[in-house]
Amino acid sequence: MNLGSRPFSLSLYLGAFATLSMALLLLLAWLVTQRIDAVDRDLRAAVHASARTELEQVLDDLFSGIREAARDIAQWDEIRQQLRQPAYYAYWRAHRLHKPGTLPESVSASEIYDAEGKLLGHFADTLLPGQLPAVPEARVIQHPDGRPVLQLFQPIRDSRGRRLGWIGLQFELLPALQRAIYTYLDPRSLQVGPIPAEGIPPDRLVEHIRFDTRPSDIRQAMLGILNDSLLQIAVVVILIGTGLYLLYNLLISRPLQRMERTVRRLENDGFMELQQMRFPVLELETVRNALIDYHRNLEQAHCELDERNRELWRLAHRDPLTGVFNRRALDEDWRRMTDAESRYPGAVAFLLLDCDHFKAINDTYGHETGDEVLRRIALGVQHALRSSDRLYRLGGDEFAAVLVECNRECAHEVAQRCIKAVDAEDFGELGLREPVHLSIGIAVAGPGPLPPVDTLKRMADMAMYHAKRPNRHRIQFYDDEMDRDGGMLYSSRIVHAVEHCLRNRCGIEMHYQPVVDLEAGDIGYREALARIRIGEELLMPGQFMPVIEAHRLESDFDLAVIEAIRRDAEQGRLPPDAGISVNVSGMGITRKDVMEALGSLAGTVVGRPLVLEITETTYIDRIDLANRQIRMARGLGYRIALDDFGSGYSSLRYLATMPFDIVKFDISMTRQLNGRESQRMITERMVKMLTDAGYYTVAEGIEDADTLKRVRDAGFAAAQGFHLGRPRPLPHSDQGRSSTSIENTASSPDGDESGAAHEKRPRKAGA
Ligand code: C2E
Ligand code: MG
Ligand code: MG
Repeated sequence: MNLGSRPFSLSLYLGAFATLSMALLLLLAWLVTQRIDAVDRDLRAAVHASARTELEQVLDDLFSGIREAARDIAQWDEIRQQLRQPAYYAYWRAHRLHKPGTLPESVSASEIYDAEGKLLGHFADTLLPGQLPAVPEARVIQHPDGRPVLQLFQPIRDSRGRRLGWIGLQFELLPALQRAIYTYLDPRSLQVGPIPAEGIPPDRLVEHIRFDTRPSDIRQAMLGILNDSLLQIAVVVILIGTGLYLLYNLLISRPLQRMERTVRRLENDGFMELQQMRFPVLELETVRNALIDYHRNLEQAHCELDERNRELWRLAHRDPLTGVFNRRALDEDWRRMTDAESRYPGAVAFLLLDCDHFKAINDTYGHETGDEVLRRIALGVQHALRSSDRLYRLGGDEFAAVLVECNRECAHEVAQRCIKAVDAEDFGELGLREPVHLSIGIAVAGPGPLPPVDTLKRMADMAMYHAKRPNRHRIQFYDDEMDRDGGMLYSSRIVHAVEHCLRNRCGIEMHYQPVVDLEAGDIGYREALARIRIGEELLMPGQFMPVIEAHRLESDFDLAVIEAIRRDAEQGRLPPDAGISVNVSGMGITRKDVMEALGSLAGTVVGRPLVLEITETTYIDRIDLANRQIRMARGLGYRIALDDFGSGYSSLRYLATMPFDIVKFDISMTRQLNGRESQRMITERMVKMLTDAGYYTVAEGIEDADTLKRVRDAGFAAAQGFHLGRPRPLPHSDQGRSSTSIENTASSPDGDESGAAHEKRPRKAGA
């Protein structure tokens, strides 16, 4: 029986056990009874044997007595006398032989026979035979009335021993037998017969006697004892069984059932009841205590599980660095809000908060400082938000806040508080020399059905892109016009292309546009301009630069561009005598790895004039670091150009603080030469001033000969524009033409980039 595999009912098993015990008991009783019967039979047999022996003895005694009596009688003289003179025999027979008291009492008949065995005389009343055989033998025969009698014939002899005749005697057997004293045999039960007609010889008589034995006291006593013991054992067993059953019921079955009911109700009030219970059986008490312990452990495990669940929920929904909610929490909250939309009948504002130039902070001061900056920003913003608002960290330095029941004004007010809170933080304590600012893009939805959170985030993202532009408010609300511009920021095709070419460092193609030295009349150097190829299509910077900026990939892009130029140089695409100008982002110029790449490029293109064009200088936070790096670049052989001067991205302020060699006038400044007098004068004065200050001035956007003439007249040192040469890929050096001749795009066979395609995108203006 495998008790482990299946539970079993104790009652069932006990019932089966009790039934089996009873059956065994009955079997035992039957066996004992059988045994007693066998003993009884043996005893009976033994007593019967004793009785038979006793009977044989009695018969022996009886027959010897009878024979002796017969012999005595045969000695009587008067009997011999009768044989000699039988004339008086009838008289003698009647008055002497048959006279009571003459013969023993047991003799019921007697006759005398002559020597030939013939009865003396004829008597009707005789019970003995009239003629004896030659040798008469004693026989037990049946008296006509059924009694068994012994007929014995004793010879009568004279003094010399001659036989004179016979005396026949008939003895009553049963009375004689019954008179004997027996120990074992019951004399009343003595019966003889059936007796055959020829009679029974006396020595065989015992075989024809039936008798019973006297009841044996010992046997009776022993049987009584045995039966009594058996009965007593049965009674004791029944009493013990009943007692055990009652005890089992009282001590085990009922308490177990009670415990079972209680355990079933453990979750409710069962535990209290279990604590108050007391069981008379130690084992059940042990089970009860174990159950109490188990229940306590279970409760403790429950608590710990709850705690773990809460902790897990917290881990799953909180940002480990700042402790604010995370992206998953935002998604879930938003799902809840949109499910219970009616609870927010008012507007909901989605604030996207971003730390300006956080990457530079991280790169410059290390991740630990960056983390602390984020923590402080989170704390400051959290305090600035209303108590009902939640702050989420979406990743990096990007935070979001969902403000329910909040219209434009309210959102603006909260956003301002956030900006002030971060502005008020003393980041100098962390060793930061530049201030840390927040930019906030806001998208407001409702009243009415709320859009998916990703849509709001995308809208806030576009607003944020604008908030980050130079000379813009750091808080920007999303409007539909942004959507038109921002579409490309989220064009998955362009985003994928950018990600792909940055990840695999491929797909970037460099086109080179000549910058013509006006005094020498030849190409001073070529500006390397990046394009991204998607199959047959070539993406222009106006298409992909916003994506790069929006995703903060400027430094990576710088590295990829430098790598592409280096590859062109190695493949002999760059004419040996022509210089190269590399555009580097404001962020890249502060990066060590970008500087190392520039060093490696300088090593590859030794001997050529090298220029580094830096634009969007407003993005440069750490001027001192940028200056150190610029000086390092100078050491590598680069001349440094301030790109797009006058566009709003780069201004005079930077000329005063940063070590530039070249100033490239933005196309808008060049166009002023064709404008009003005052505008023309501003550009001309600026050129003169910068030339006097020692800068090499370059005019961008020369689209026709007229503009070229005005540029020349204004005193520009160099000029760049479609009129002088379009940006185009360079062929291998062996295919190349003279690098010093001015390329006229009108006749250029490489004019695959149309004028329209080269129309300078006003991307830096953010519109
Ligand atoms: P940029 O550095 O000022 O480059 C000059 C831009 O003016 C080029 O536009 C060029 O094609 C365009 N251009 C030249 N001549 C004329 C002209 O006569 N008329 C007009 N309308 N435009 C002319 P592109 O190639 O589309 O580049 C736009 C801007 O993208 C660049 O301005 C630069 O800021 C950025 N960029 C391009 N390549 C790179 C690069 O490799 N690295 C970085 N960091 N920025 C790049
Ligand atoms: Mg440039
Ligand atoms: Mg430029």
